[in-house]
Amino acid sequence: MRVLLVEDDDPIALSLTQGLLRHGYEVDRVGTGAAALAAAPADVVLLDLGLPDVDGLDVCRELRARTDVPIIVITARADEVDTVAGLEVGADDYVAKPFGVREVIARIRAVLRRTRREQPDDTTPEAQRLGTVALDRRARRVHVADEEVALTPKEFDLLALLAESPGAVFTREHLIEAVWDEQWFGSTRTLDVHVSALRRKFGAAITVSTVRGVGFRLERP
Ligand code: CA
Repeated sequence: MRVLLVEDDDPIALSLTQGLLRHGYEVDRVGTGAAALAAAPADVVLLDLGLPDVDGLDVCRELRARTDVPIIVITARADEVDTVAGLEVGADDYVAKPFGVREVIARIRAVLRRTRREQPDDTTPEAQRLGTVALDRRARRVHVADEEVALTPKEFDLLALLAESPGAVFTREHLIEAVWDEQWFGSTRTLDVHVSALRRKFGAAITVSTVRGVGFRLERP
């Protein structure tokens, strides 16, 4: 299990590296965003947001655009978590400084469990069938036929919510409140952006209809 650790702070990187090694992980540590993007593929990425060369959020977006590797963002401030969640940069989880190695290991194990590479099992009640789409809420994975569709956490949440009641209209307010949360003060454009992403990623496999002035509906297959 290889961890790509992106952290410019030497003491933090050193203690984290030692802790990860003790728990049997291999660690590839880099100190800049450029080095992170040039690094060999890893099984999981630990990404500090405060990097000396580029914004860690941009590194996160770029990594997510290229690969579905689990990304755990390391934030220096609690309010950065809201920023990361709101901006939808594709991170799988967050850990706020200061943190212990145990906490980081627990997060790594959790994201690897959620994203582990196995086909959905039709016999498990967690996999919902929608035509050719298999939605596994437990593993947070979606497949069309046998192809996995890589979704950001919010895209997944949005699809999972709409899929709770195919054919029913969900109001914009309901979707924003349920998928983002009642503290969401961002642009409601965010919802449209996520709906567009689902349409793009699934093509003809699912149909999300716009109900003008109301919200959206996932059509029955
Ligand atoms: Ca830093």
